[in-house]
Amino acid sequence: MTADTATPVSTAASDSAAGERLRISEIFFSLQGESRSVGCPTVFVRLTGCPLRCGYCDTGYAFSGGEWMSLDQVLTRVDEYHAHFVTVTGGEPMAQRACPALLGALCDAGYQVSLETSGALDLSAVDPRVVKVMDLKTPGSGEVERNHWDNIALLTDRDQLKFVLCDRADYEWSKDVIARHELADRCELLMSPSFGQLEPRTLAEWILQDRLPVRFQLQLHKLLWGEEQGR
Ligand code: SF4
Repeated sequence: MTADTATPVSTAASDSAAGERLRISEIFFSLQGESRSVGCPTVFVRLTGCPLRCGYCDTGYAFSGGEWMSLDQVLTRVDEYHAHFVTVTGGEPMAQRACPALLGALCDAGYQVSLETSGALDLSAVDPRVVKVMDLKTPGSGEVERNHWDNIALLTDRDQLKFVLCDRADYEWSKDVIARHELADRCELLMSPSFGQLEPRTLAEWILQDRLPVRFQLQLHKLLWGEEQGR
């Protein structure tokens, strides 16, 4: 059995982390809709809250509400699904102080863990076993000035950098950023159209014309289930 297929071994957080609490918007089981593990059954832990307000945000319901849970309660809920992949998402999960402890505890429990993040907050406290799936916010998102550029240096070839594009101007901006920061040499690059704003076929043709070193992707969960929450 490889490390990638190892069965989770323990769900108890370490003594130092056990007292941590997190505000949880939802925990659910679905197919991963994006990233390199697209299509894989995955437990999603969605943390409440986000300091950004992207124009295309589809998880505004996670900006507030949810319930406080201890780290051990979260681990117990995750364990009920008997899954291999766990994605910590939001909102912006790193906006909660206990997020790094949650990520570490999930790794300790044997899960293959990914973090979906806006990239607007410092990621240096993220456990190195975690796959970071980080956005670079484009001008069309309305939050381009929130990019925390120092995070790029923390990405490795196990991580993924995601561009969600609203229009041609976003595409040109992304192309320039990829070249200027030599991002193709650093990690996998994901590019997707903002749902309902940019035709997927148009973006696909731009990428092919430029032979851009990115992986085009659509949000699988939206193709399957539309805007349904908890999917
Ligand atoms: S960072 Fe994500 S959760 Fe926050 S506003 Fe933007 S799209 Fe929504």
